[in-house]
Amino acid sequence: MTRPVIMIVDDEIANIEMMAAVLEDDYEICFARSGAAVPGVAMDARPDLILLDIVMPGMDGYEVCRRLKRDPVLCDIPVIFTTGLNDPEDEERGFEAGAVDYVTKPIQAIKLRSRVGNHVELKRMRDQLSALATTDALTGLGNRRLLEELLQSQLHHLSAKGEWLSFIMMDIDFFKQFNDLYGHLEGDDCLRRVAHALRDAMRRSDDVCLRYGGEEFACILPRTDHDGALEVAETIRHRIEALGIPHKGSGVSPVVTISVGVATGRSAADLSMELWISTADAMLYQGKRTGRNQVTGHVIELPRPVERAERPRAAG
Ligand code: GH3
Ligand code: MG
Ligand code: MG
Repeated sequence: MTRPVIMIVDDEIANIEMMAAVLEDDYEICFARSGAAVPGVAMDARPDLILLDIVMPGMDGYEVCRRLKRDPVLCDIPVIFTTGLNDPEDEERGFEAGAVDYVTKPIQAIKLRSRVGNHVELKRMRDQLSALATTDALTGLGNRRLLEELLQSQLHHLSAKGEWLSFIMMDIDFFKQFNDLYGHLEGDDCLRRVAHALRDAMRRSDDVCLRYGGEEFACILPRTDHDGALEVAETIRHRIEALGIPHKGSGVSPVVTISVGVATGRSAADLSMELWISTADAMLYQGKRTGRNQVTGHVIELPRPVERAERPRAAG
């Protein structure tokens, strides 16, 4: 297992060295010497815990902590304040800013080690729970909950520059008949093999495939235009067919096939992810109606501003 990463933030290098010496046998250490540097270092290092000095020139620890807690990516990292201030009011302000704990200076090695140890352990358990809650047990792919989280966050992220976002929905053809003919265990096995092939077909690091539910799967393709998405969709469709899983009950092929719906649109802050889901879903069902085992796509049109009607000239 990789070692947890602890980030130490302090304007005094001697403090950083002292805490690093206490922790470096058990943890990877990274550090920042000002509040302003924290988000950048934290985005790169993705620490499991941050030890944060309160009194620093420029942005103080309270403000750094409040900003971390507002950041959608960094908000789950536990923060422990380290400070010479030991007024109960300072402590209270620290908890209000979102810290989980408080260690006063001069730092005692045992106290620091055990507080850090406890909170890292809690963080790991939280991470495991959330991974479980967002993973589909049968296929190991992300589940619908994760899909909605990821799609929402990509839409938000990409809308800053109005970038392309493509979304693919897939559904196995005549899967009810597959179960009826071969049994549910074979059906489960088929779902696992399809999931595996989907995962293999993802080319970019932020492309992701998930199980939408039942025999339906989905892919999120950030920064992918319609032609790119159609290409990925066709590759997937072909790979599933090429698995060659026999399906005597299919009305369209001797092997298991999927129908695929693709939706592509320019992301924008006022659009909702449901637009991508419903468009891909509509395309998928159009493909089902017109023969199955095929890719059908649509480019989402941005709603145009309503043009003002020309005012009729006054008569006379
Ligand atoms: P179509 O080509 O129109 O998609 O027809 P279909 O038979 O695939 O569609 P339908 O929605 O009628 O049936 C879906 C089937 O998928 C029914 C359900 O029993 C099966 N299914 C859903 N989830 C699972 C699962 O986890 N394991 C297994 N074995 N079967 C599942
Ligand atoms: Mg279905
Ligand atoms: Mg189906």
